[in-house]
Amino acid sequence: MPTARPQKVKPAKKNAAAKVAPGRGASKAAKKESGEEPTNPQRVEAILQRLAKHYPNAVCALHHRNAWELMVATILSAQCTDVRVNLVTPALFQRFPTPQAMAKASQAEVEELVRTTGFFRNKAKNIVGAAQKLIAEFGGEVPRTMEELLTIPGVARKTANVVSGSWYKIPLGVVVDTHVMRITQRLELTKSTTPEKIEQDLMRLIPQTSWIDFSHRIIHFGREICIARKPRCADCFLEDVCNSKDKTWSTH
Ligand code: SF4
Repeated sequence: MPTARPQKVKPAKKNAAAKVAPGRGASKAAKKESGEEPTNPQRVEAILQRLAKHYPNAVCALHHRNAWELMVATILSAQCTDVRVNLVTPALFQRFPTPQAMAKASQAEVEELVRTTGFFRNKAKNIVGAAQKLIAEFGGEVPRTMEELLTIPGVARKTANVVSGSWYKIPLGVVVDTHVMRITQRLELTKSTTPEKIEQDLMRLIPQTSWIDFSHRIIHFGREICIARKPRCADCFLEDVCNSKDKTWSTH
């Protein structure tokens, strides 16, 4: 796991709430930079570079072999862990391997196969409906535009961004899941509180060429270091630029 200390970059402003590491009071640099915009390009670039350095090969954790499987897995991942989804999808795709097969599936049978992912009735309904939509309107293929993707049952912007980014490598937007929400708020990259607005903020802030990798890297970072309940700030390679009130350790 990457824990090496990065080159120092000044924080946006001093975080008065966090514990301060023994012998490490507020630095001159921190004071000098107090009040600086947290979204200034230099700081954003530093965050992107460190994420890239620590997670150069981060990819989607949902197992899939094609765009259809990734779309289904992402629908199933709502309010559920990727690990749980990966336990469920092999049997689901063995029983219904294509959109054509899924379009004819009994919803009750799909419900049983996805039951452990939660909200299984709605998810099963959406998956069967999505397959029928692909057959009826898209020649059985997952479409590539946001406008088309959003017409598919169960597909909102997050799922559309996952499929377009991870499978087609087209950066239509930024995936905003629970990790991306929490961490971009902690890092003050956004003040928004809804996924839709956070995505718009990030799309303005981050170069489009980084949209896909940014989300993958933040999600890995959120699982390993900037954990929801107890962030591992003492091991964090962004600690010196972070002023979150949730910090468990601070050197500035
Ligand atoms: S782990 Fe701590 S220091 Fe690092 S980004 Fe999260 S809250 Fe900030």
